[in-house]
Amino acid sequence: MLSSCNLEFGFRKVEVAAGFSLRFKKFMIILKSAKEIKKMRRGGQIVAQVCQKLTEKVRPGISTEELDRVASTLIRMNRAVPAFLGFRGFPASICTSVNDQVVHGIPGSYRLREGDIISIDFGVIYQGYYSDMAVTLPVGNVSRDAQRLIEVTKSALDSGITQMVPGNKLYDISAAIQECAENNGFSVVRELVGHGIGQKMHEEPQIPNFGKRSTGPYLKAGMVFALEPMVNMGGYEVKTLEDNWTVVTADGSLSCHFEHTVAITDNGPEILTELH
Ligand code: MG
Repeated sequence: MLSSCNLEFGFRKVEVAAGFSLRFKKFMIILKSAKEIKKMRRGGQIVAQVCQKLTEKVRPGISTEELDRVASTLIRMNRAVPAFLGFRGFPASICTSVNDQVVHGIPGSYRLREGDIISIDFGVIYQGYYSDMAVTLPVGNVSRDAQRLIEVTKSALDSGITQMVPGNKLYDISAAIQECAENNGFSVVRELVGHGIGQKMHEEPQIPNFGKRSTGPYLKAGMVFALEPMVNMGGYEVKTLEDNWTVVTADGSLSCHFEHTVAITDNGPEILTELH
């Protein structure tokens, strides 16, 4: 049962009709207890361990469906459930997005090639709670530009996490991510956002990867967010392929994605999906 003491409220602009009138939607952020965060910490460690194994497997020649099989097996061995499998009909346990694919790529027969970059995104359900993470990995040797995109996207995530301190405001996170990406000459995807996470994979609030500092609701201990900058080498526009899942950059430029599930504590951010 939710009681009023574990909810925080915020407001978000909602576009009502083709860019004209704006109204504000009220949203609730569910605060997690220490007991809940403990469960999420365990789930987060499962995700981190599986991610480590997948990182070791990524090399030229391996197919994305082999990576999916490895992930699925390891998740179940840890008595967790692949959170993405069947989610709105998604057919696999992980998303594999290669090169200009931003997110939601479906694993298949494609074999990774030297010079590719691959984003792997997945989550688990453990004891009723979700964890979610993503990394982008180089396949063999990649171009210097691709390497820099990976490093900057990782830094953008770190910059966002650093803002997850009680007393800061929600869009301080968004602004920090945007500044890091844009100061390095890249763009942040607008159409997809980070999110609150807990007993559902996607809870309020939505966390755009762009925004204005000192705006939004105050951050409080007990909030748990999945921050996930998606950074493009070219423009920020994206489109969805005919499979209705795979999101690619509109201009064909490379794209990178990093994500962590992070709890706000009185001592600052705790990255639940970082390997301990
Ligand atoms: Mg996510």
